[in-house]
Amino acid sequence: MAIENTLSIIKPDATDRNLTGAINSKLEKAGLKIIAQKRLKLSREMAQKFYEVHKDRPFYNDLVDFMISGPVVVQVLSGENAVMLNREVMGATNPSEAKDGTIRKEFALSIEANSVHGSDSLENAKNEISFFFSSIEIV
Ligand code: ADP
Ligand code: MG
Repeated sequence: MAIENTLSIIKPDATDRNLTGAINSKLEKAGLKIIAQKRLKLSREMAQKFYEVHKDRPFYNDLVDFMISGPVVVQVLSGENAVMLNREVMGATNPSEAKDGTIRKEFALSIEANSVHGSDSLENAKNEISFFFSSIEIV
């Protein structure tokens, strides 16, 4: 299997509860390497653009409001099969459906405030990584 990079975001509900380290620990224990990381506050325009694929969904405006409600930590995770491995470690979008031991099962507050984002395909991972990071920041 090939080494992949994927984009992860620790969302405002998690940074607010001081869970960055706890979430990073779960990622690292699963074998994902955090090869780039920064904490920032998204502008409304950035959040709208990042979640553009969901712009026609009923939850889009609330999701954008939530994502700009506090700081996020954006990171690049690397490892074998990293895109799908990270999705497994994250757990289902709705925490009530997430498996035991997953980040969302343990930490998410709701289907919206679900603590983490992770790219869902290798192609989206490439686009999402370049949305936040330049190549010299990924080492
Ligand atoms: P995932 O983050 O698991 O890939 P989606 O891409 O479907 O999930 O949705 C993006 C984000 O939008 C979710 O992580 C969650 O924060 C929010 N979201 C998804 N579905 C709902 C919903 N039914 N109600 C409110 N927020 C939602
Ligand atoms: Mg998604």
